[in-house]
Amino acid sequence: VNKPRSELEDQLVSKGVKYLLASYVDMHGVSKGKAVPVSHLDRMLGGSELCTGAALDGVPQDVSEEEVAAHPDAASCTVLPWKDDIAWFASDLWCRGKPFEACSRNILKRTLAKADAMGYGLNLGMEAEFFVLKDDPALGFKPLSDRKHLEKPAYDVTRTLDNMGWIGELVDAMNGLGWDVYSFDHEDGIGQFEIDFRYFDALSMADKFVFFRLMAHEIARKHGGFATFMPKPYADRAGSGAHFNMSLSDKKTGKNLFADPADPRGCGLSKLGYQFLAGVMKHLPAICAVVAPTVNSYKRLVLKGSMSGFTWAPVWACYGNNNRTNTLRIPQGGGRIELRAADSACNPYLGAALVLAAGLEGITNELDPGDPHTENMYLKSEAELKAMGVYHLPRTLDEAVSAFDADPLSEETFGQAMKKTWVDYKRDEWLSYLNHVSDWERARYLKFY
Ligand code: GLU
Ligand code: MG
Ligand code: MG
Repeated sequence: VNKPRSELEDQLVSKGVKYLLASYVDMHGVSKGKAVPVSHLDRMLGGSELCTGAALDGVPQDVSEEEVAAHPDAASCTVLPWKDDIAWFASDLWCRGKPFEACSRNILKRTLAKADAMGYGLNLGMEAEFFVLKDDPALGFKPLSDRKHLEKPAYDVTRTLDNMGWIGELVDAMNGLGWDVYSFDHEDGIGQFEIDFRYFDALSMADKFVFFRLMAHEIARKHGGFATFMPKPYADRAGSGAHFNMSLSDKKTGKNLFADPADPRGCGLSKLGYQFLAGVMKHLPAICAVVAPTVNSYKRLVLKGSMSGFTWAPVWACYGNNNRTNTLRIPQGGGRIELRAADSACNPYLGAALVLAAGLEGITNELDPGDPHTENMYLKSEAELKAMGVYHLPRTLDEAVSAFDADPLSEETFGQAMKKTWVDYKRDEWLSYLNHVSDWERARYLKFY
């Protein structure tokens, strides 16, 4: 067909792009979508790619219903660094000609619009931890580096060097996309890594996080391993957090509204920042159901588990200065709030939406979180914490989902359809876990009784 090419199509063709991916996420934040030859770019941007909602987890539709359509965001166009004849697009789902209520990306956009109406934009940084392992017939899975076991592998330089093949390729890919990686390291679990890059507006960050997981999987595979974002793959190693670092900006000037060097509480956070933080703290149990979304997530949110040292994961609903024993931390220098409960399995659109909604409520109601905890909260007894008014985060997915179900903010933010799907799906996930008899139980009870 002889039709004039758009500027974007010209650019993509001249870069050698042959195929496009109109990609959206299911409720888990996992990339789904269709591939489209580049000559169909315009049709694709206009919403030509349809899918049966019932085929996706979290799209509460019957097979008989109208299909949902991917509406790609041209601004998110990303040529795959490991396969440069394909360009990826983050997409919204539409249904019957308008944005689909239960689409994760739309849910975040709706919440960002509420912030915008109050004069704010949300800046978000996400620090994803993940393991890169390889299959081993004898051992199950093992790290790519075969250095001998270290009691404390955190920041281990030899292991970082052993893994430079895939990490170097991944970091170069991220920098090639303009993500500005500022550091990477071996984390506290053997085979566990973290690559930190700059923050972006929340929607771009959520798109990037989804893309990051896809890219890490693909690049690790190229190097003979696999990446896993499972929150707690091993009981005796640290889990994989994906801490949210957040600040609100003035939508007109872009100025960070959370910075206050003269903060009387000494954390460098503004009054607005404290109000936001108090809102998040108030809704933490419900937030956990979304940012720590799996049965396995709650095996990460423990003080020690079967580790020899602490996990550095949060357990108490409290906040503090640059102190990792709090769920909410104000990292050194102030001007932002870190939510440590979030893990690497989270759907970043839904997580950011609920946290933002909670923060905005804190601002509207001028909530105050009290004084920061600067002491080691891990060393306090439950009785001491109770006396301080500090409660435990949900201990299981079941507890978290009940809190989410009971919190009016869930439906206000997700809409009725996604709220119901989330609760139904996660209750089923919990029941399926509960009805499973594990090796641990047989080892403990089979011959004992
Ligand atoms: N791995 C820890 C977690 O599960 C975080 C360690 C750190 O602060 O980097 O959240
Ligand atoms: Mg870390
Ligand atoms: Mg962090």
